[in-house]
Amino acid sequence: MTDITKLVLPEFAAGSVWLVGAGPGDPGLLSVLALHALERADAVVYDALVDPRILALARAGAKREDAGKRGGRPSPRQPDISARLIALARAGKRVLRLKGGDPMVFGRGGEEALALAEARVPFRVVPGITAGIGGLAYAGIPLTHRGINSAVTLVTGHDGGAAPDTRDWAAIAHGAPVLVLYMGLRHIGAIAARLIAAGRDPEEPAAIVSKATTAAQRVLTTTLGTAAADAEAARIEPPAIVVIGPVVALGPVLGWFAPR
Ligand code: SAH
Repeated sequence: MTDITKLVLPEFAAGSVWLVGAGPGDPGLLSVLALHALERADAVVYDALVDPRILALARAGAKREDAGKRGGRPSPRQPDISARLIALARAGKRVLRLKGGDPMVFGRGGEEALALAEARVPFRVVPGITAGIGGLAYAGIPLTHRGINSAVTLVTGHDGGAAPDTRDWAAIAHGAPVLVLYMGLRHIGAIAARLIAAGRDPEEPAAIVSKATTAAQRVLTTTLGTAAADAEAARIEPPAIVVIGPVVALGPVLGWFAPR
């Protein structure tokens, strides 16, 4: 067996920040660099979507900080989180900023990296497996399939809590045959209505993958027109990825993951 400890990995320098993607849940999907960072970090600043089994891999002496609950306030503003990362780095810590999925995919990793760059705090980005890719793989849904689609749109269905009307849904409807919606569960009815109004077929296959890659994963196979009602009837819970398009039809054949 290959001994991964023989890999030459970059040093996690004191006073630096690593922005690391933890993947969608299954700890087996962590990268070697992510594991390396967990084993060396002095402080781990994590988001709500990071799986507890992954946090448990952090060095025993590492200080864990829930970025979603710090300071007793329910939800700190993004600038507060960036300021915290900078302060920890300036205090000489090896700061692991751990995010669900990939830090640069609807994860505000870019904003944090900008703040670090501005503060001249050295940082590294460790990509993670994003939910829209890893979650689909665990549902047996190929993101692209030869002869079916040659393009995909990744889009967020949520915009700071408001209805997702700042997006051009008509353009999105025509942009690619396969749409992968992050944070789309809450507004799936309104989004589907806009896509259908722009010409997408209400009968086209859709799937909702909830808690993907974990023991609680559920895959609801539905159609664009009935997704909202079916999700409600089945009590599908977030976090969930909604995927719309012809590749969804492969899910029931290729679904291989048996949670629990
Ligand atoms: N940076 C993350 C996305 C953060 S936005 C990534 O790359 O995956 C949060 C959204 O991601 C959720 O609303 C949901 O749509 C999706 N998501 C994250 N983890 C998920 C999981 N385990 N199963 C299904 N969807 C997930």
